[in-house]
Amino acid sequence: MGTIVCQGCNRTLGHFEDEKVTTLYSTNENCDCAKNEIESN
Ligand SMILES: [Zn+2]
Repeated sequence: MGTIVCQGCNRTLGHFEDEKVTTLYSTNENCDCAKNEIESN
């Protein structure tokens, strides 16, 4: 099983089917931390 991880905060965003254990780093646009970055800046 593959795991989708946020680049910004390393939070697990979801999973996808894979034969082996894989970690896929995604942009944080689908994560709550993207909003936090905008607010903090
Ligand atoms: Zn994040």
